[in-house]
Amino acid sequence: MKILLIEDEDTIGAAIQQGLEEAHYTVDWARDGRAGLDAALDELYGLIILDLMLPGRDGWSICQSLRARRDTTPILMLTARDAVGDRVRGLEMGADDYLPKPFDFGELLARVRALLRRDAVHKGRVIQIADLQIDTKQRNVLRAGQEVSLTPREYSLLEALAVREGQVLTRETILDTVWMNEESLPNNVDVYVGMLRRKIDAGRDAKLIRTVHGLGYSLRDPQTSEGEG
Ligand code: CA
Repeated sequence: MKILLIEDEDTIGAAIQQGLEEAHYTVDWARDGRAGLDAALDELYGLIILDLMLPGRDGWSICQSLRARRDTTPILMLTARDAVGDRVRGLEMGADDYLPKPFDFGELLARVRALLRRDAVHKGRVIQIADLQIDTKQRNVLRAGQEVSLTPREYSLLEALAVREGQVLTRETILDTVWMNEESLPNNVDVYVGMLRRKIDAGRDAKLIRTVHGLGYSLRDPQTSEGEG
């Protein structure tokens, strides 16, 4: 998977490039806005990491140019810590996510993986979280290579959680996504999460489904989310 990094600060750029390469991504690093936009237009990337304040051309205008050309490559914007306005503007220009500076490399990697996964889902491919594999086209689920047999409702619940890996979904969100317009009660969510857990997590060392007390549920790889949140 090839990632385009557009960042003018040497230290930050070098750290991101090195970290991503260690995570087995190929990285092209453009150090100014013009070179960045040219690279994005010339080559097909899986993801673009885009700084906002750049010589040549700023991040917003790069984002806008790409989206105006119907380029849907996922864009992760790097923004200043407290500049809420920057983030709103970035999302309006078509960025998929943003990460405030300074950040922890683990956080960046988690966002990169989440965006790539989300993009893969949109293209109807396979979601892989730890040893859980979900084929969203076949609606087929494997845990550690073994097929897990799920009811359609359990499958929808699992997919809803997996697509938003690491994010907490409230019971209301789950009801809206999985039950849609049907009459149902928040308690049903707990019942179904319980059933899903018995099929996905029971008897496994790594538990993927997490209860976030007072909030809801999330699905994450316990290995990669250590120290987060
Ligand atoms: Ca900069």
